[in-house]
Amino acid sequence: MKYVDEFRSPQFLQAQLDKIAEFPFNARFMEVCGTHTMAISKAGLRPLLAPKVELVSGPGCPVCVTSAADIGLALALAEIPDAILATFGDMMRVPGPAGTLSQAAARGAAVKIVYSPLDALEIAVSNPNKQVAFLGVGFETTAPAVAAVVLMAEERGIDNFHLLSLHKLVPPALKALVEMEEFNIDGFILPGHVSAVLGSNAYTFLPEDYGIPCVIAGFEAVDILQAICELMVMRRDGAGLSVEYSRVVRAEGNPKALDIMHRVFEPADADWRGLGVIPGSGLRLREEFTARDAASLVAKIIQPADDRGCRCGEILCGKIRPAECPLFAGSCTPDNPFGPCMVSTEGTCASYYLYDYTDNNGVVNNGVEPQHQQVDNGVEPQHQQGCD
Ligand code: SF4
Repeated sequence: MKYVDEFRSPQFLQAQLDKIAEFPFNARFMEVCGTHTMAISKAGLRPLLAPKVELVSGPGCPVCVTSAADIGLALALAEIPDAILATFGDMMRVPGPAGTLSQAAARGAAVKIVYSPLDALEIAVSNPNKQVAFLGVGFETTAPAVAAVVLMAEERGIDNFHLLSLHKLVPPALKALVEMEEFNIDGFILPGHVSAVLGSNAYTFLPEDYGIPCVIAGFEAVDILQAICELMVMRRDGAGLSVEYSRVVRAEGNPKALDIMHRVFEPADADWRGLGVIPGSGLRLREEFTARDAASLVAKIIQPADDRGCRCGEILCGKIRPAECPLFAGSCTPDNPFGPCMVSTEGTCASYYLYDYTDNNGVVNNGVEPQHQQVDNGVEPQHQQGCD
């Protein structure tokens, strides 16, 4: 296939669906990446595949997996006098133990939305008397660009630029997931963007050590169905690792991006929403850059409040679907998010709300009735405030 139209061709889509329907067994696959979750919902694939294939979402939305404790740390940073917190817009509305960054900004905290870490560096240049902290959130896709800006700050001697690294690594999280007692997924649709940086070799342990079929997929509907077809074949014939997204992903990944990432960061334990602390699954600044660690600017760390009914943790492990959360579409909506899965544009709850849920008659396309439980989340509705 050469052109994007071919990836959206109804004929190709139908042919793939027909092929999948012929397999004499059902399967349950996890799309690890939030962009896949959104693409699947947007293309309406879930009802087309059911009941032959059930797709559940995984821990691949960086905003969603950010723990409440880490949001508390960002809030504490935002409240420091003479500090500026620079962040991507989708972190603004994630409820933390003491509200959201958006609310902190309304109270007068210096929080700025940026579109790239470079913007944060320029804020540091323009405000030499302030300490500027960039909130680094994202997987292997984002971390190299953030690392490049840290190196740039070093070269330019911009000492008031700091980083709160909440970056996370995908393979250790998948390892933790498959080692969970109640893990019952027949195969992974692996992320395309992360794999473009990381390379397919990073996942060989999944089929080899755990017998899990894996396909790295692109983001068009045909890509996803093709990946599902390959997973069905592997489920029948034996686990393997295949790269459906070969127009972008190589076995060795992007060596230049990986080199920059490893020059600045080293693996560290990280706290994942829903998965807990996973050894070696985060990135912290290497020793030579510790003066730039924004966490050291915070004197007190706010302890997380309980999640008051939010079940993001179970959703991120594929244990339940959004409509099984009693707050889905009732107390919790994109305008009034109760948890991060409803905030992020890649969040599972947000994508189900936007594409898999019909409000008129209260029926969810995937067959699960929402319960519309009204609970006060302690966070005022934001209505576009700080919206990305
Ligand atoms: Fe959390 Fe809202 Fe999703 Fe429920 S619907 S899991 S409260 S984000």
